[in-house]
Amino acid sequence: METLVFASNNAHKLEEIRNILGQQFHIKSLSDIGCHADIPETGNTFQENALQKAQYVKEHYGLDCFADDSGLEVEALGWEPGIYSARYAQMHGRIVTDENKDDMNMDVLMERLEAQHPQLGQIAGARILSPARFRTTIALLYHGSVHYFDGIVPGSIIDQKRGTTGFGYDPIFVPEGYTQTFAQLGSDVKNGISHRARAVAQLAQFLST
Ligand code: IMP
Repeated sequence: METLVFASNNAHKLEEIRNILGQQFHIKSLSDIGCHADIPETGNTFQENALQKAQYVKEHYGLDCFADDSGLEVEALGWEPGIYSARYAQMHGRIVTDENKDDMNMDVLMERLEAQHPQLGQIAGARILSPARFRTTIALLYHGSVHYFDGIVPGSIIDQKRGTTGFGYDPIFVPEGYTQTFAQLGSDVKNGISHRARAVAQLAQFLST
């Protein structure tokens, strides 16, 4: 079986990827190949960041590899925070810890949207603050070429946190066609429609042709 490295140590992402590609490829994580480096992510786009991680593995370990980069894009903020999603509150001067990071990021996002006094209607009694979308970009280095796969899930940011599952901005994001947030819908529903699932499905289709 061919080996393909997924440049991540996120157990949840690895499980998801192995479920989809595990019959076809021996998927190795960064720690599986002995890579414990904090690979730099200094690009200006999702594509640049994903490629940077994949290239690091190719250069240092000589293995075919893919890597992902994800984030939330909010229309009323000029599609920010994008690649800065994980560090949004910090970039706006908040003191952030591992424990409060997600809450702080959501608070800053909601404050900035509220400042625009949006009048966009309601979803299940919550006010809509802006259209938004989650995006995942995967960069694949395979047999000497680079390929990109993009997964998007459109939806809305609402004015209150709802639900307890998931991570990041899940409690304030309602995907299009639903009335509950990702954090209320739970992992089964989310994993079926998420930006990551959509990007991985395209990767899997490419690798199976
Ligand atoms: P990563 O590239 O997958 O590590 O995602 C970067 C950041 O984007 C995360 O730290 C979250 O703030 C946000 N993000 C990415 N995917 C999701 C998601 O599925 N739900 C909520 N937030 C997400």
